[in-house]
Amino acid sequence: MTEETTIDWSTGMRLMAGDMFLGLYQPSPETTGYWDGVRRHEFLLKHCLRCDGCHHPRRILCPDCNEAVSAWKPAKGTGKLHSYSEVHRATGVFAKSTPYTVGIVELDEGVPLFARIFGEPGIDVPVEVDFRVLEQGALLPVFVVKTAP
Ligand SMILES: [Zn+2]
Repeated sequence: MTEETTIDWSTGMRLMAGDMFLGLYQPSPETTGYWDGVRRHEFLLKHCLRCDGCHHPRRILCPDCNEAVSAWKPAKGTGKLHSYSEVHRATGVFAKSTPYTVGIVELDEGVPLFARIFGEPGIDVPVEVDFRVLEQGALLPVFVVKTAP
């Protein structure tokens, strides 16, 4: 039995440094709701319960009013590509995927999010979320460049 078949993927994301297995990434308490949504193919953002501001899944306090209590609400899943980089050299499980694109998406809610990008990238091109299983075997939110109708 190989190492691949003995790992329980439901408990986290596999972390690698080259071919070295470093363990499983566990969602932090402030992002558990986000990853629960990803498993259901729902794209969620935190909404402040005081000012209804929308913020990044990792934020503990609202950046607008410092409120610590927030709720997970569905986001549009659309935005624009703020910046991107094409990766041509990678190690381990990522090597077979080169070239691939990563970038920062400015969501319609005003929240920046780092993610894998699929399609023909460009500054300010419209993108929308999709959920795909990538190299490490975990389901992740990615963004796909919208093509003209
Ligand atoms: Zn707030």
